[in-house]
Amino acid sequence: MKPKATKPAVRDDLRALEGYHSPQLDVEVRLNTNEAPVGPPPEFAEAVAAELAGVAWHRYPDRSAHALRQDIAALHGTAPERIFVANGSNEVLQTLCLAYAGAGRVVATFEPTYAMYGQIARSTQCAVAEGERSADGSVSLGELERVVERYRPSIVFLCSPNNPTGTPERAEVLERALEIAPSLVVVDEAYGQFADWSAIDMCDDAGGPANLVITRTFSKTWAMAGARLGYAVVPAGMVAEFDKVVLPYHLDAVKQVAGRVALRFAAQMEQRVAAIVSERLRIEQSLSGRGLDVWPSQANFVLFRTTPCGRTGDEVWQALVERSVLVRNCSSWPRLADCLRVTIGTPQDNDRFLDALSDALPDALPDALPDSVMDAPSASIS
Ligand code: PMP
Repeated sequence: MKPKATKPAVRDDLRALEGYHSPQLDVEVRLNTNEAPVGPPPEFAEAVAAELAGVAWHRYPDRSAHALRQDIAALHGTAPERIFVANGSNEVLQTLCLAYAGAGRVVATFEPTYAMYGQIARSTQCAVAEGERSADGSVSLGELERVVERYRPSIVFLCSPNNPTGTPERAEVLERALEIAPSLVVVDEAYGQFADWSAIDMCDDAGGPANLVITRTFSKTWAMAGARLGYAVVPAGMVAEFDKVVLPYHLDAVKQVAGRVALRFAAQMEQRVAAIVSERLRIEQSLSGRGLDVWPSQANFVLFRTTPCGRTGDEVWQALVERSVLVRNCSSWPRLADCLRVTIGTPQDNDRFLDALSDALPDALPDALPDSVMDAPSASIS
């Protein structure tokens, strides 16, 4: 048989779509993907290994991941029926789009924000209505109302704290969204534990808003990006709808074990979060002290603009790479000209970053901290 010479045709709507890229380089200090700087405690790996001895490798895993959902529910003081678990919060977001948006429906994002909302929405054939964040990274009530009234989105994506600005969502914005959105409001709390405020408090077992979904991940605070585990706290009855679109047995047995074991180390997780928050403050102050524009962050990363120091984002990014420090270069992203995003690392990593940055910037900069350390950046993100 003669093989066909023509290439198979990809879906028409995918032709113009680019895949999601997060460039990696071989460097000594990697501060580009908002991972935890260190892994879970050694006792975690030991406990997982012990539990794995009991895994029935020849059987499919518990399809409903009941035990894991029960443990996550206990963590949030809610019922297992209100917890959905998936392969990273990205799979949660995809499941939401498949079940509640899809072809002929619209989802709303507020830019700049996590690029996967738009990417997942488009790959699941939803239209995307892009609202604009204010210069300080927040969503204004006026913009929220404009987007919701004009596009009637099936899903409103809020991100708290927002990636890449680090801005937490304001409670009044979420409350208004829940009031006016025609259908679902999703609050992505991938970085929720680093923030002062969480929408989880609105989701007690007494019910909570019927249109609120909160997503979380084990990738950041639980230091388990390698395991690919995320979840959502959802209104009652929603998991049954998700089950129509997720693949059977999508959550493997090993991951279910690892997630349950991780939850036993909640106290250590909280200690790590506190250490990262304190390092974040140090980095924010240092960046502001050097005269850069800094977005006050409540996440495990900080966004800053380099131009007040007379260097483009590309120049500073390249100079950091030459010193074996990798941060995320957002310079070419819409609305983020000359912006870099640095993940908070270990104190040693952070020192390496700050030293490399000092080398990369011109000398004539103030050493002392200005009073305006935590002011919103003066530059506009539009
Ligand atoms: N939401 C936000 C805001 C993120 O930044 C990320 C990862 N960078 C995710 C969701 C996805 O996380 P994961 O799939 O690892 O749970």
